[in-house]
Amino acid sequence: MRGNERCNEPRGLSSRGLSNGIGACHAVRHGRADSPRLFVDAIMVSRYYSFGRYLRQRFGCRVHKVTLHAGFTCPNRDGAAGWGGCTFCNNAGFSPNVRIDPADVRDQLARGITGARRRKAHKVIAYFQAYTNTYGPLDRLRALYDEAWHFPEVAGLAIGTRPDCVDPTVIDLVAGYVPRGEVWLEYGLQSAHDSTLAAINRGHDYQCFVDAVERTAGRGIRICVHTILGLPGEDREMMIETHRRIAALPIDGIKIHLLHVMRDTIMERQYRQGEVTLLSRPAYVELVADVLEVLPPTVVIQRMHADAPRDLLVAPDWCLDKAGVLDDIRREQVRRDSWQGKALGFPLTATPFAALDPPSSSSVPPVPVERECLL
Ligand code: SF4
Repeated sequence: MRGNERCNEPRGLSSRGLSNGIGACHAVRHGRADSPRLFVDAIMVSRYYSFGRYLRQRFGCRVHKVTLHAGFTCPNRDGAAGWGGCTFCNNAGFSPNVRIDPADVRDQLARGITGARRRKAHKVIAYFQAYTNTYGPLDRLRALYDEAWHFPEVAGLAIGTRPDCVDPTVIDLVAGYVPRGEVWLEYGLQSAHDSTLAAINRGHDYQCFVDAVERTAGRGIRICVHTILGLPGEDREMMIETHRRIAALPIDGIKIHLLHVMRDTIMERQYRQGEVTLLSRPAYVELVADVLEVLPPTVVIQRMHADAPRDLLVAPDWCLDKAGVLDDIRREQVRRDSWQGKALGFPLTATPFAALDPPSSSSVPPVPVERECLL
């Protein structure tokens, strides 16, 4: 078929032509995505449920996450759950038991809101990110979380933690904020395989994560899980299996990370001794497309790349090209006509991300990428 010939194959959303999911698949199936303009149209189509899209749908405006450091430590470092921490975790800047006053959290939030306003965001989510943000006495947790709601711009709260640090009293406390706005608990898991969790010294097993999710579900709290692709000893099937297992749980979001080696970690020594090998860029891109296929289309993809600080990164260099890697993932989805939830039988048109985003103003600066802690 030549470019100027009319194709009679139904497009579903024909009024939008190539600017929708059906049209893009259609173009690729008919070999027309080689045309630069058509290919650009095709890769602009959403084939996964991005966090940005979710927030626009939920709040009707631009929403940023403001990252907060509340002085928490980690039970996998102080002996409560283990010593030495996860093998990939970097010690730089780790200041156990730094006493951060709730007023400092308010100052961090105020600065973050100012920055968000400059980028035309009208609302923010206060993100307690560094280390284990439910690891402390209940009164202290309450005092810190209460600060998050001090500003009218705060539409929600996100709390990063480990699955072994959320007893029922913590869940009750966090659930108490649900009537005030969006509340997320982010659980570091990394892998559903206990052999891997032991190898990276996580200090908890998979069942611990399942128990935490079951305690959290049904309370109005949204659940996000962090995973890593490329962990030592894992092959493609094991990584996909991790995502199949968590897809069967009542989770609402996921952050998919690339395994990268940072300075001053146990993994740096293992890498230099040849005990750890890292994924190539094409292998990672294919794997992300694979795992997206087994995730329900309602699960929000909060992240699907690494975010390594340049000064601490040992390898791989290519993970610094975050925008390029994301672009590669989208192109891989187009190439294989793939989308989030495809392996579960969801048609692209039945997903919450099939519709087009409204065009964004070119005067709006890009959202800065938060540096992510691998919880
Ligand atoms: S990655 Fe998170 S859980 Fe693991 S040692 Fe570091 S702070 Fe603790």
